[in-house]
Amino acid sequence: MKRRDFLKLSGAACLALASLELDSSLFRHLEAKELKDLPGSLGAKEIPSVCDMCFWRCPIVAKVKNGKVVKIEGNPKSPTNGPRICARGNAGIQMLYDKDRLKYPLKRKGARGEGKWVRISWDEALDEIAHNLKKTQEKYGKHSIALFDHGASAGFFRNIFEALGTENFSNEPAFFQCVGPCLLAYLYTFGYQAIDPAKVDLENARAILLVGSHLGENIQVSMVRSLIKGLSKGAKLIVMDPRYSAIAGKADIWLPVRPGTDMAILLAWINYVIEHGLYDKEFVAKHCNGFNELKKAVAKYTIPWAAKISDVPEADLKKAIEILAQNRPHVSIHPGRHSAWYGPQDVQRHRCLAILTALFGAVGVPGGLYFPTNPPLESVELVDFDEVEPPDNSLKNDYPFAELFHGSPTHAIIRATLTGEPYPIKAWGVVGVNLLQTIPNPYQTMEAIKKLDFIFCVDIKPTESALWADIVLPDATYLERYDGLYKCRETSCYVALRQPAVKPLFESRPAFEIARDLAKKLGLEVEYEDIESYLNDQLEPMGLTVKKLAAQGGLVTCEAKPYRSRSELKFNTDSGKVELFCEAFDDEDFDGIPQFMPAPAPPAGYVRLIYGRVPVHTFAKTMNNLWLHHEWPENKLWINDELAAKIGLKDGDEVILENQDGYRSEKPVKVFVTPGIRPDCVYLPHGFGSRSPMLSRAYKQGVSDTFLITHYEQEPLMGASSHRNNFVRFIKDGKVISVPELRPVPREIPRFELKKSA
Ligand code: SF4
Repeated sequence: MKRRDFLKLSGAACLALASLELDSSLFRHLEAKELKDLPGSLGAKEIPSVCDMCFWRCPIVAKVKNGKVVKIEGNPKSPTNGPRICARGNAGIQMLYDKDRLKYPLKRKGARGEGKWVRISWDEALDEIAHNLKKTQEKYGKHSIALFDHGASAGFFRNIFEALGTENFSNEPAFFQCVGPCLLAYLYTFGYQAIDPAKVDLENARAILLVGSHLGENIQVSMVRSLIKGLSKGAKLIVMDPRYSAIAGKADIWLPVRPGTDMAILLAWINYVIEHGLYDKEFVAKHCNGFNELKKAVAKYTIPWAAKISDVPEADLKKAIEILAQNRPHVSIHPGRHSAWYGPQDVQRHRCLAILTALFGAVGVPGGLYFPTNPPLESVELVDFDEVEPPDNSLKNDYPFAELFHGSPTHAIIRATLTGEPYPIKAWGVVGVNLLQTIPNPYQTMEAIKKLDFIFCVDIKPTESALWADIVLPDATYLERYDGLYKCRETSCYVALRQPAVKPLFESRPAFEIARDLAKKLGLEVEYEDIESYLNDQLEPMGLTVKKLAAQGGLVTCEAKPYRSRSELKFNTDSGKVELFCEAFDDEDFDGIPQFMPAPAPPAGYVRLIYGRVPVHTFAKTMNNLWLHHEWPENKLWINDELAAKIGLKDGDEVILENQDGYRSEKPVKVFVTPGIRPDCVYLPHGFGSRSPMLSRAYKQGVSDTFLITHYEQEPLMGASSHRNNFVRFIKDGKVISVPELRPVPREIPRFELKKSA
């Protein structure tokens, strides 16, 4: 700029300033204009709410400007998270504004699975669903309908299915495919559901054990924060995982266990702790039941034996258990979450973790297992209903402990749909879950869907599961709706409100409204016309309303009492003590004390397929999200470097995967060659390889692990379906690559027999 121009401009600026002083209306006008044009999220309206990009439900603040959500941050009022959220939480905006969203109610016009639909009105869509559910129940009985649901809003639909009288409601795949075995183990050891989230005080632990939990890649903000705080205060970390996960990289000891033998180590550790008097004698004497039975039953499990079975050096096993024992009782033995691994031993493996926790007296103390506090909320339902009466030939009859939980085992429903046994199931509702990318053996699921008279789906996106539906309803995203209240039951306790930041886009509608109108069409009596009254009744004991809660930053804390003195300890079990020996299991002819049962080793020529998370994706839900897709567009197959060298694979090579049942990956996957995984398994991040062409970014990006998980076994106590008994071999240039065995399998471990596969 020339000096003369500058002076002209300065003069103009002085004049403008002078006129601003003289003309206040002009000043206001400019201020408003400035605010409108502030960059980024500056000047945005802040709406406190709750994230739903994963099941963890972190408190957030949505920043809204000119009617659009422009930024999402953590709610600084949150005692667990502060203002932090993860990458997925940030990317919620791209779920809201995803061009591929379902926009209108749709009715199928092609074959199931083709995804050919016509647009219909909400009224027509709800009429069709109500008509078909009623018709199915009239023809085949009240249990002939089933609901697969997941997520915060799914409860409204579950309520309807309960009110319709079926035992096949609330069949959350998240429960019977994931957390169920772990939950049962802790319930029958400590008398409370010490998980979901895992009730371990990582922040105050002096030693931490993670068995297969890859926190850090599996991001749950408050738990990861608590873990990092614990480590930064000096906690020792032991990680048992066949893969050198991100958190294994921070471990003092990494135990690269042979998959399927974790329990051998845990039982040997229990024996070692007893044999060497490393347990908390006072806690065990006063608060535990069945110590003598435990001592006797585990005496045969020695560390040298476990070292051979698990292929982990004896010295490392000893060092690890001694670190844990030295730090008792301030030890966090993480219970895990996804626990449907191998089938037969899944509950018992988690019983081992619970027993070890008890032997260390790590209960009710800082750093140990803590007790959650329930906020004082009223329990209300959209539709009132009488308790569901299971039929004599209930789907739960084969699993003596399934009755403790809502719903029926997922695969019992799928098999009943396929075979009509023990009774026919002819209509499904699928709400907020992509069944085909979630449940083992999607080919079986597709066959079952073909047998249905009717299937409807409520979702935000046209997933591959939605493509199979007769009627598809567009759900509003969490940024466009109210939901049930979020109750945080960690070492802190609070209630948080999910509320809309913007109005629902297109013709999408909040789940509450969809469920309310469907209930009416089904002739059910709804208790609440609007969600605000529904929430207000829940909040009443806290002296709150939706408006008051929103005015208080969307989050109100309650006093939590995570710790107990020893004299205060009480356990809600049959004996009133921690059940080292579980009489209820024994009564049903299961082991009262866990006994080792190895998961079969890979058949010759195959490696075991293991799977897990990447930090920027949730299940198969976020792969189409613009920002997250750019961060992590496809998965790669982790393969051991020694094995790769033997079979001539280099980093970045592409292979087709073929599993033990002959199912192949739809396309080749790139290999990631690393010493960070054992040679008897490969690792494939979960949720990629979408088969829905309507998801423009996720379609055919990477390879689906679930479509290679076709063999499953059911856990015998509660019926969860396992995921880790699947094996793959590689095909390159049209030829099968024979996989050599680099870690000989001891005789005690049987081989998976190819003919046994489903
Ligand atoms: S962990 Fe991330 S995605 Fe999950 S609720 Fe929290 S912020 Fe959202």
